[in-house]
Amino acid sequence: MKILVINAGSSSLKYQLIDMAAEEAIAKGTCERIGISGGKLTHKANGKTFVIDRELPNHTEAISLVLKELTDAEAGVVKSMDEIDAVGHRVVASGEAFTETTLVTDEVMKTMDEIKELAPLHNPAAILGVNACRAVMPDKKMALVFDTSFHQTMPDYAKLYAIDYNDYKKYQVRRYGAHGTSHKFVAGEAAKYLRKNPVELKIVTCHLGNGSSISAVKGGQCVDTSMGFTPLAGVPMGTRSGDIDYAAVEFLCRKKGLSFAEGLTYLNKQCGMLGVSGVSSDFRDLTQAKDGGNERARLALDMFSYSCKKYVGAYMAAMGGLDCIVFTAGVGENTPHVRKAIVGGMEAFGVELDDTRNEQSNDGSIREISTDASRVKVLVIPTNEELVIARETAALL
Ligand code: ADP
Repeated sequence: MKILVINAGSSSLKYQLIDMAAEEAIAKGTCERIGISGGKLTHKANGKTFVIDRELPNHTEAISLVLKELTDAEAGVVKSMDEIDAVGHRVVASGEAFTETTLVTDEVMKTMDEIKELAPLHNPAAILGVNACRAVMPDKKMALVFDTSFHQTMPDYAKLYAIDYNDYKKYQVRRYGAHGTSHKFVAGEAAKYLRKNPVELKIVTCHLGNGSSISAVKGGQCVDTSMGFTPLAGVPMGTRSGDIDYAAVEFLCRKKGLSFAEGLTYLNKQCGMLGVSGVSSDFRDLTQAKDGGNERARLALDMFSYSCKKYVGAYMAAMGGLDCIVFTAGVGENTPHVRKAIVGGMEAFGVELDDTRNEQSNDGSIREISTDASRVKVLVIPTNEELVIARETAALL
C-alpha cells in the first residue's frame, strides 16, 4: 500500500509518498512560493533531487506538478496514480467536531470550513490542500489527520479553561493542543528505545520548532499539553507570544489602536522570538546574534528555555514523576545550547545531561544525551509526522 501524505501551508506544500510495507518515504518534496512569484518544486526520489522552477499560482497547480513528478519516467516512483491508494492530509485543529482521523466528504469539508478560525495560520491552508487534491484526484480516498487527536485523552481538569462552564459547552472553548502526531510518534519511539511498555512510562515530549509545544504523556496517553484553544498558547515561539495575561492584550490593543482581531495577528506574527529579539524568528539566526553579543537575542533565547523548563517541571509534578524527556523538531533536534538551558540544573529531579553527548550533531538517529547514571533519560528523537499520518490513513482504509 502506498499513501501520499500532504502537509499544506499557505504558500508551501510538503509531500511524501510512503510505502507502508517498509514504512519508508519513496519520494518526498516541497512546493514553495505558491501564489507568489518564483514558484519552485524540489522533488527527491530514486536517490536524486529534481528542482523545477515554475510559477505555482495556486495549490491545484502545485499538486498537479507533484503528481506529474511522482509518475514521471525519470523522477517518478509509480507508473500511474492507480498505485497510490489514498491521501492523508495534515490538519492542525479539529475543535470538538472531529476527535479522530476522518474520511474526507463534502460534509466533512463544510465542517472544516466552519472551524477554520481555530487555527487561522494553518487550517485555511489545509483546506486549500484538500480541495486541490480533490480537484486533481476526485476518486481518491482521502483522510484528515488532526494534530489535536492525540490530545483528546486529556482529563477534563487539564483541558478546560476556568471560564463559565456553560460557555465551554456552548462554544466548545477549551484546550485542544497541537503537534499531536509528533508527540505521539516520539513518545512511542522513546518507549521502543527504552524497551519499555508505554503503559509504564511518564514522558515529557518537547516539540521545539518554529511552533513549539510540550506534552505530558503518561501510560502512552497525552494528559496535558502546552498549546491551547489555538497554537498561540504555551511557550513563546518563532513569531507567537505564547502565554500572556489577556488584560495585557486588551491594554496593548487600546494603546496601539488595534482591533482585537488585529491584536491576535500581532500576537501570532510579530511577537515571540522575533518580537523580543528584533533579529529573527529563526533559532539559527538568534544563536548567531547571541554569540555576537546581541542582548535581545540572548533575552529571547533565555525566555524560551525558561518557559520550556517550567513546563517540564509542571508536567513532572502533574504526572507524579518522570522517566524520560524527549526533544524533537528543528530546534529540539539541532540546538544543544537550548536543550542544555532547558534540562540543565535539574539534577535534584534525577535529570543529568551529558554535555559531550548533547553536543554531538544530529545524524538523524535516536540519541541518548543524558548520563548513564541519569534516572530520567533524555533523548533526541527525529520526528516523523508524515509516517504517523500515513499509518492513520492506512488504518482508516
Ligand atoms: P516548523 O515545522 O514549526 O516550521 P521546524 O521544526 O522546521 O519548524 O524548526 C524550525 C526551527 O529549527 C528554526 O528556528 C531553525 O532555526 C531551527 N533549526 C536549528 N538548526 C536547524 C537545522 N540544522 N535544520 C533545521 N532547522 C534548524
